[in-house]
Amino acid sequence: MKVIYRGLCPADSNDIDSIRLGSGRLCEICENKQKGLKIKEIDKFFPRDSLYYEFKFIERNKREFIKFCNKVIGKPYTAQLNWFTKAILSESFAITVPTGLGKTTFGILYILYLYYGKLTNILENRKVKHCFFIAPTRLLVQQTYERFIEFSKKAGLELRIIHSNEKDKKALKQKLKEKEFDIAILTPSFLLKNKELFTSNEFLGIASIIFVDDVDALLKRSKSIDIILHMLGFDDTLLKEVRPVLRKPVKDVTVEERKVLLENINKYKEDKEIGQLIFSSATTRVFTSRIRLLRYLLNFEPGSSLELFRKVYDVYITFEKRDNILADIINDTAKWVKKLGKGGLIFIPLDKGEKFLNELCTKLKEERNKL
Ligand SMILES: [Zn+2]
Repeated sequence: MKVIYRGLCPADSNDIDSIRLGSGRLCEICENKQKGLKIKEIDKFFPRDSLYYEFKFIERNKREFIKFCNKVIGKPYTAQLNWFTKAILSESFAITVPTGLGKTTFGILYILYLYYGKLTNILENRKVKHCFFIAPTRLLVQQTYERFIEFSKKAGLELRIIHSNEKDKKALKQKLKEKEFDIAILTPSFLLKNKELFTSNEFLGIASIIFVDDVDALLKRSKSIDIILHMLGFDDTLLKEVRPVLRKPVKDVTVEERKVLLENINKYKEDKEIGQLIFSSATTRVFTSRIRLLRYLLNFEPGSSLELFRKVYDVYITFEKRDNILADIINDTAKWVKKLGKGGLIFIPLDKGEKFLNELCTKLKEERNKL
């Protein structure tokens, strides 16, 4: 059965049928237009706002990001590449995965990549001025700062990186005030303590990106949210318009009200540069009203499910009863361990006994030495 997708031709957003779409082709109008074009002209055929163009932009940047990561730390994880795809399109979203899956590292790499991309012009129209990284504690600010320094050196980037642990607070505030920095690493309490500065007119829309690393507390306090939104470019007048609607229960907001509000937000965003917000969290606890606010303003996407990025295989081995079966099981287990790589659990039936366990251990150690 042929299905027509309205407005989904990757080149000109005309209607396209499922057969063409499924085989990577364009709509009929496009294909007719394309006839006779030379290969070099084909890329220019796709306008800047087309899906095809976006796809090419992502692919180019992904390749460059992998190169960049290899210079700095090694191959990025699949999950990190997935986050990158979203991030490079300037989307605001939450990363919700357990600790240890490389969220913090991703935040650092992504921010540095933006400066790197600025140099190589691969980001095209995107402007990158000041970036902020919010870490939960002073200790983590320190650690993050050290990694920023280490990574940027490896990437050959010369950046002005400041952090809220700096002893000379007067000098630090001066640097902030004069905007003499590229990246600022701060605790949420530093933001709150210096609310006046961060919500001043000069700081409206100062942030190209704010990466909030594991600071759930930030979503709990409307004061800190206000600071963040101001730095991303939303002024009080707009927020005053949004808040009353959001305070109402969802069911009481009329379609008309919603429409007007969204129109006003879009109008506001049209001629302004709004920063990007990436929020990382180990839990999926959501503070509904705040998320709704972020959703309205930034099309913010709350965290995705954990399983999406977990690569876990459940494997079991079965054998028919015969002689020498244990040796086969051991060999097979070793094969699977090798195939699946690091980080796994092996369960053995109790009745196999300790001798079997020891043999398996020896075998696996042998295999590891071979690798
Ligand atoms: Zn088309």
